[in-house]
Amino acid sequence: MTKHIFVTGGVVSSIGKGLTSASIGMLLEARGLRVRMQKLDPYINVDPGTMSPYQHGEVYVLDDGSETDLDLGHYERFTNGPLTRDSNYTTGQIYLAVIEKERKGQFLGKTVQVIPHITDEIKSVIRKVGEHDVDVVITEIGGTVGDIESLPFLEAIRQYPLDVGKENCLYIHLTLVPYLKAAGELKTKPTQHSVGHLRQIGIQPDILICRCEQPISREDREKIALFCNLSPQAVIEERDKDFSIYEVPLSLVNNGLDELIVKRLGLASSPPDLEPYNDILHRLRNPQHEISIAVVGKYAEHKDAYKSIYESLDHAGIHHHAQVRIGRIQSADIENEGPERLLSGFDGILVPGGFGERGIEGKVQAVQYAREKEIPFFGICLGMQCAVIEFGRSLMGLEGAHSTEFDKNTPHPVICLLNEQREITQMGGTMRLGAQPAKLAAGTHAQSAYGQTDIVERHRHRYEFNNVYRQQFETHGMTFAGTSPDGQLVEIVEVPHHPWFVAVQFHPEFKSKPTKAHPLFAGFIQAAIERRARRQKKTMAAEPSQPV
Ligand code: GLN
Repeated sequence: MTKHIFVTGGVVSSIGKGLTSASIGMLLEARGLRVRMQKLDPYINVDPGTMSPYQHGEVYVLDDGSETDLDLGHYERFTNGPLTRDSNYTTGQIYLAVIEKERKGQFLGKTVQVIPHITDEIKSVIRKVGEHDVDVVITEIGGTVGDIESLPFLEAIRQYPLDVGKENCLYIHLTLVPYLKAAGELKTKPTQHSVGHLRQIGIQPDILICRCEQPISREDREKIALFCNLSPQAVIEERDKDFSIYEVPLSLVNNGLDELIVKRLGLASSPPDLEPYNDILHRLRNPQHEISIAVVGKYAEHKDAYKSIYESLDHAGIHHHAQVRIGRIQSADIENEGPERLLSGFDGILVPGGFGERGIEGKVQAVQYAREKEIPFFGICLGMQCAVIEFGRSLMGLEGAHSTEFDKNTPHPVICLLNEQREITQMGGTMRLGAQPAKLAAGTHAQSAYGQTDIVERHRHRYEFNNVYRQQFETHGMTFAGTSPDGQLVEIVEVPHHPWFVAVQFHPEFKSKPTKAHPLFAGFIQAAIERRARRQKKTMAAEPSQPV
């Protein structure tokens, strides 16, 4: 019988439910259990694909091409159970499915209602994830308990044990226990209220995970337990970690969470193997190199807009025992202040994906700066398109070269709409999405990074290198390091006679893990480490040692 864990959040949003759910998944997998993760989001958009990064942060893309919430990135980085379209549902998707059934007459003339029709639909998507070979399904409910929007989801998970048995379900509530400086104490009242709210709708949490800045005393734990109708052992502290997110799962183990979960669900399992995560923390605490990478994006000030890219840079740092300092540079600032002022101190420059015209010229200037100053460069999706535009303009005399996304009348449309995109008018879920195979050319940085010639990477774009210009670019020295297997679509370009200039049309950041850095990020960070070493050598040579 598949077991179900439901994770809800209380008191405030952004409390770290995604990371905590992913950590629980990771700990159960480390105990040898088969886990599947799922997120249910209360907003009405059908998926986050059409939402602004300011609203939602990054859109995370799965192999099957679904555009999902960024918490699925945490899930994939921490756990190994496959994620699919069924791993993320929004209120919009649930209602859409119910309304489509209603239009087809499938409700046989009945009045269609939130209970039971919407809640049945929600339960069916939870059930679907549990149908695979799996021991535990972890379903995270987005939003905060008390929101109007999340009520149907909460009602559905309240009903769930009635269908599958109480013994097969576990409710975990993540809450905030704030520290009031003026009073010099932790405050448990918001948690009491939040749990009170859950109980009003019929859910008694089995485990409370308390986010806090200060340790929770025994008395406070007992107080929370008493007011929330729990045993004190079921009140787990999750103290803020300012060193690394990888401390989170390890601290949850120390506080007995995994033990408690398997006991409550009656799951036979061995103690968790935490060696890979201990090793990660050891590497992070004992770096042998220190480097800095500039990420030049339109939304650089938004910490979640390039989430997977920042994480992937960290993974590559872990791989190379390097501490990676990330400088978030607003591409529009480069247009105003010039690349030298903003980029000169960095050991590597990365231009990520994006949409829309704002800051494009700043990105093109960043590419030019990296190419001319021989700074390791990594372009991703729009970053690759900018690399092509820059190369065309600077080295081939293609004045005004551009992508037709930004200049419909450019004299040199070096980046143009993919053929398959020409007829598309609907926005959501209509890009070239998901895993696509590519072939790598021998002797390229890309091929040596992957150590193989056949790869599969995830995509999310409408525009592509314009093949009309292929020959011309090749003549001027651009290397087409990777293409679709039929050779039609350019997937990777490189600039030779440069320490490391690789730009890709896909999104490698969606396939990097802390325990297994993505080869291209690893290659990029390696090149940045080498550049830093060369620069240090140069400075040392320029400053002869003092005579004794
Ligand atoms: N806007 C570009 C396109 O649609 C790049 C997309 C991206 O960077 N994800 O092709």
